[in-house]
Amino acid sequence: MIKDGLALVKAAQHCWEGGLMPGTSGNLSMRTPRGLLITPSGVQYPELTPSDLVELEPGGRPLRAFSPVPSSEWRFHEQIYERRPEVNAIVHTHSRYATTISCLRRPIPAVHYMIAAAGVSQVRCADYATYGTAELGQNALKALDGAKACLLANHGLIALGRTLKEATKVAFEIENVAALYWHALQAGQPVLLDDAEIQRVVAKLETYGQP
Ligand SMILES: [Zn+2]
Repeated sequence: MIKDGLALVKAAQHCWEGGLMPGTSGNLSMRTPRGLLITPSGVQYPELTPSDLVELEPGGRPLRAFSPVPSSEWRFHEQIYERRPEVNAIVHTHSRYATTISCLRRPIPAVHYMIAAAGVSQVRCADYATYGTAELGQNALKALDGAKACLLANHGLIALGRTLKEATKVAFEIENVAALYWHALQAGQPVLLDDAEIQRVVAKLETYGQP
């Protein structure tokens, strides 16, 4: 637990420093044997410590007495862990470019091969629902079908991973692809890669990096 808590704090600060979470926005979680561990509500990321994190049992009750208030968006984290057994970590951001595209309620298309980090050739945009509601989680699950990322209309981005490292990487990569898409649109009509090419890259990424 202590090790998990430290890893979650480090990942949250890394995302904040990388500009993915303006102000106190966004949240991160990890699956635990008893439920999930999540960042608190209204967090000042530079001051976050492992004791500020909240472990929730299924249904959203904190496991520790006098625990801080969990992120108001804990519901969709729980809904995703329930439906996606391979997912062990979730990063949610209000990062600038992904959120810009979400305000247009458009998917992010394959303008760059690194969209394959999300395992798909198009990052879908979930229908709008008020933050913190079960409806938002249901909409997100639909948009996340077979994918490691989706946009939330007029809200932000959700990134998933088998590990915290992977979920963080997906969040950074998809924010970058969203930025490239936005910039390309300013200059013209971007040329998109086809599904077969993205599937080749998805397979290559599975074995990329150090063994
Ligand atoms: Zn949010």
